[in-house]
Amino acid sequence: KTEITGWNLQHTYQNLHPMMFSKVSPQHAEAPKLRLFNETLAAELGLDVPEQSAQSLAELFSGNALPEQASPIAQAYAGHQFGQFTMLGDGRALLWGEQTLTDGSLKDMQFKGSGRTPYSRGGDGRATLYSMLREYLISEAMNALGIPSSRSLAVVETGEQVYRTRMNKGAVLTRVSDSHIRVGTFEYARRFLPPEALTSLLEYTINRHYPDLAESENPAVALLERVLQKQAELIAQWMSCGFIHGVMNTDNMTLSAETIDYGPCAFMNAFNPKKAFSSIDAGRRYSWGNQPGIAQWNLSVLAGALLPLIHEDQDEAVKIAKAVLESFEDRFQSAWYGLLSKKLGFAGDVTEYDRSLADDLLRLMQQQEADFTNTFLFLETESAWLEGIPSGSAFDALHQKIRERQEQNPGGRDEAIRLMAAQNPFIIPRNHQVERALTEAAFKDDYSFFNKLLHELQEPYRRTSEADHNLRKELTMPPEGGDGDYRTFCG
Ligand code: AMP
Ligand code: MG
Ligand code: MG
Repeated sequence: KTEITGWNLQHTYQNLHPMMFSKVSPQHAEAPKLRLFNETLAAELGLDVPEQSAQSLAELFSGNALPEQASPIAQAYAGHQFGQFTMLGDGRALLWGEQTLTDGSLKDMQFKGSGRTPYSRGGDGRATLYSMLREYLISEAMNALGIPSSRSLAVVETGEQVYRTRMNKGAVLTRVSDSHIRVGTFEYARRFLPPEALTSLLEYTINRHYPDLAESENPAVALLERVLQKQAELIAQWMSCGFIHGVMNTDNMTLSAETIDYGPCAFMNAFNPKKAFSSIDAGRRYSWGNQPGIAQWNLSVLAGALLPLIHEDQDEAVKIAKAVLESFEDRFQSAWYGLLSKKLGFAGDVTEYDRSLADDLLRLMQQQEADFTNTFLFLETESAWLEGIPSGSAFDALHQKIRERQEQNPGGRDEAIRLMAAQNPFIIPRNHQVERALTEAAFKDDYSFFNKLLHELQEPYRRTSEADHNLRKELTMPPEGGDGDYRTFCG
């Protein structure tokens, strides 16, 4: 028997207002072939996968043979894309069940690239193998970095062609998230559905993600505050690893504060706060340094959607919401400098002086276009072989001050090293390595480098030494000549 067992699927989302979703079946895949399968994640989900079940897995995770308990839906949502309000919804994704874990929590099981839905607008409902492999690689790297993220369970090649300025192999990704409730989900309910639908969505979100808020005096305000705090922490985590999401539209921001939607994201090498990689972000709206401001803007859209639930007097509601939104700045700054302090090995509460050292370092890194990842590693290891480290007397003086501050930790420099080792990754998905892995896998059917890279990205904090085997050391190297005009795409 090669049957995959252990399913325990619920469909709680289908208890929401009927206009919140549409029942849709995945499109049949002609010749499904399993390309990636995440055994660790499958075990975490409680699935039992017999040996030699590659073909069963391909049938299952292409959507050709869903578990009996499955009930696929496309979720309806709206959103602000680059600031413009639009009706959206799952145009190429399907939620086919919520897997119940032993602790009672639910995980959305979702396909991406499984065909058209009522929300596809002009799109083909498909995804390219290249971009689904990319999402798998980066989302799993994010998870290993300790950054809340959707997970990737499987990639199945469909055997069909997908046209994106040229022919591509098509694929279906199975992604797993705490939920896919977006700021845009609230915008949709508020704008297009009766008031009860918005109330139910609020209750559903609180029960599913923040049950401790259920008894709050004002649940809508409590939810807004909680999401604000979690998003502030998430954006700080992104930035602390040089991550640029690339398409922070309100439909890509979750209430669970997980990172989702890995279209045009990328990690930067040379530090430049204005860095943006996305081919559709010519204005750099979603650059590295704009991410906190955009998050706050997106949260103001969430607040707008929640207004009727905040206070019956809408002027009062606006006042209350504004006060909450204004707290974002402080929450973000505190999360950001908290992480930076650890990256620099400073123990204890963050002082003004700690912040000034961090700011001085970032300024110097920017001036010298230093490598974001390696500069922090250098402050821990002082390894001469790390590339992209700032130089000159200003850096030497700052380095000295950082060392002195580390010595003031209760545990001195040893404590500093422990803090830094837990906060500074050695291995990030560097663009040139990611491209090589994807090109060989998607266009030459050669997954050897992809799998090696994936393996190393699963242990980002493991220390690498000069004597380490070639690949791991190679992965610490910034691209020769920098990122050049590297561009990313939705796909
Ligand atoms: P994204 O930029 O990936 O967040 O997608 C924005 C919207 O476009 C969402 O509603 C997607 O479901 C939809 N979409 C993206 N690609 C396709 C496609 N190939 N076919 C149909 N809908 C799509
Ligand atoms: Mg999206
Ligand atoms: Mg997308």
